[in-house]
Amino acid sequence: MSAPHRAVTPPRAGADVLRMMLQTTAHAAAQSRAHGATAALWHAVELHRPVAELDEACELTLCGSLARVDRSQDWPRTGADVCPVCAVLAR
Ligand SMILES: [Zn+2]
Repeated sequence: MSAPHRAVTPPRAGADVLRMMLQTTAHAAAQSRAHGATAALWHAVELHRPVAELDEACELTLCGSLARVDRSQDWPRTGADVCPVCAVLAR
């Protein structure tokens, strides 16, 4: 009997699924401008860099609108002036 043949090239390692599943997403609070009868709302912006690197410019929010990041505010926010779409998507 002979030992089973092994591949010359080692098999490629799969994706590191465990690390990807443990990754959490941080969000920053951003306030949109009031439009007509619509009040200014607080939205969530997904952070891809440290908050300190944000220059409080307008960023794309989770719901797809543009809002200005306010580093003095934390997400999640409570109250009636929170975007309901961002509140759900940022859970
Ligand atoms: Zn929103």
